[in-house]
Amino acid sequence: MSVVIHWFRRDLRLADNTALNAAFQTGKPVVAVFVLSEWKSQHHWCGAARQEFLCSCLASLAAEIEAWGGRLIFRTGVADVVLEELVAECKADAIFYNRDPDPFGCVMEARVEKMAAGVGVRAMGFKDHVMHEKNEVLTGKGTPFKVYTPYAKAWSRLPKNAPENVRGEFAQTKISTLSLPTLKTWSLKSTLAEPLAGGETAAQKRLARFLDGRIQAYNEKRDFAAVEGTSRLSQDLRFGTLSIREVFQKCQQLLGKTKDAGGRLGIATYVKELIWREFSFSILGHWPGVLEHEFQEQYRTLPWKARWRPEDKSAWSREPDSKVDFDRWCAGLTGFPIVDAGMRELNATGFMHNRVRMIVAMFLTKDLHIWWMHGESYFMQHLVDGEIASNNNGWQWSASTGTDAAPYFRIQNPWAQTARFDGDGEYIKRWVPELRDMAPKSFCEPPFPGTSLAKGYPPPMVDHREQRDATISLFKNAALGATTARTMKVPKQLFFGER
Ligand SMILES: Cc1cc2nc3c(=O)[nH]c(=O)nc-3n(C[C@H](O)[C@H](O)[C@H](O)COP(=O)(O)OP(=O)(O)OC[C@H]3O[C@@H](n4cnc5c(N)ncnc54)[C@H](O)[C@@H]3O)c2cc1C
Repeated sequence: MSVVIHWFRRDLRLADNTALNAAFQTGKPVVAVFVLSEWKSQHHWCGAARQEFLCSCLASLAAEIEAWGGRLIFRTGVADVVLEELVAECKADAIFYNRDPDPFGCVMEARVEKMAAGVGVRAMGFKDHVMHEKNEVLTGKGTPFKVYTPYAKAWSRLPKNAPENVRGEFAQTKISTLSLPTLKTWSLKSTLAEPLAGGETAAQKRLARFLDGRIQAYNEKRDFAAVEGTSRLSQDLRFGTLSIREVFQKCQQLLGKTKDAGGRLGIATYVKELIWREFSFSILGHWPGVLEHEFQEQYRTLPWKARWRPEDKSAWSREPDSKVDFDRWCAGLTGFPIVDAGMRELNATGFMHNRVRMIVAMFLTKDLHIWWMHGESYFMQHLVDGEIASNNNGWQWSASTGTDAAPYFRIQNPWAQTARFDGDGEYIKRWVPELRDMAPKSFCEPPFPGTSLAKGYPPPMVDHREQRDATISLFKNAALGATTARTMKVPKQLFFGER
């Protein structure tokens, strides 16, 4: 009997997996494959933290498939080449896969479709990673939205697919497979003390914990960095260990049962964040050039420091002072407690609270005037939930260069932000041990110029007010007219590795 292939990508689960369901519905045994990259030309977005989580997800998926009587096949290389070999080896007559909303994934899909047509098998892509793909949520004129609120309204009005589970048979194939990947596969070393458990079961536990009460308080608590007020599910949505349809449906069911206004607001606010995720995919999908430059044309000539692409590491020698500033930001040694706490949280755990992501991103761009692309790249290297669409949108929002971004004159003051969102200093003390004995109110305003808050802790590296004023002037003077419409294409440097 012939078989079909399910190509696992960022849908690392068996439950409610659209393409896998369709593969099972053919009634043929399914060969499950995951294509690992060789990391031959390592991209500046790659990092061990996310790769370690991926390995954990793959180990869990392989075990689940084995429990269903099958085997997850691992191969290394470029997907279209690997799949072509696999089709021939197992005489498959179709390839099923879920579509990837990011532009590099789309390019690979086109290559797989072409290969499949060439060898005479069907390749079938499905919507799975999002509730609505980029061309489903459009303005009345059929154009993409550039602003979140009308996008969210249009998104909310569309009918939603419900989760579905189809049970089928995995092939008991004897074809060769590489062993389960570990960080050693790519000669990487773990950078995290306590890596998060990956896989469907761990993700389901996290979801259950969030839905069991925390979500109702989401609106009230989500901005407080020390509190476990958010879902902590971003990595699971990123790698597809959770189905977005299941998350959305469970939120709707809970909303139906929740009577008090605060609880309802919590759930509604959480869903709005899920819509931000899809808005980011839509922006990147329609304007992939945002990976190469500012969304807003008038800000494409802003004189940022270190205005070269992050992969050009040797360029830092042109601005050694900027390199020193950037390294201090990366290491959490800026002398701004909230910024340092955030960067140290990221370096230690591969995660950073959303409120703090905004603060550190604004600090790098508006206080140090360093090009946001370096921050974007650093985040991608270190975040377990690193998602190129949300990350780019978050950075361009903070730099005031993106679509629907923070206006350039509304610059967050790190001291005032601390007073609002970490007033008792709990978050700062957790991540910056040098400051553990300090009174929390000392984190809410700058120390006397030239002095530091505590022994062994650096003085603030800049004066926030001065830097803020300088930023506003930079934006006011931004030269108009640099049109780069031609670069609104998929970036030339294609990247097919694990992102
Ligand atoms: C500079 C910057 C960089 C960011 N980089 C990423 C990234 O690489 N990957 C990523 O998933 N998110 C990114 N975000 C968005 C946000 O910070 C994280 O999604 C969130 O902190 C994850 O924690 P959570 O799952 O507890 O979020 P929750 O508060 O529980 O939010 C629910 C879900 O909605 C999505 N979400 C929440 N906020 C946003 C947002 N602003 N934009 C897009 N999606 C959102 C996430 O999938 C998240 O899991 C970034 C934000 C900023 C300001």
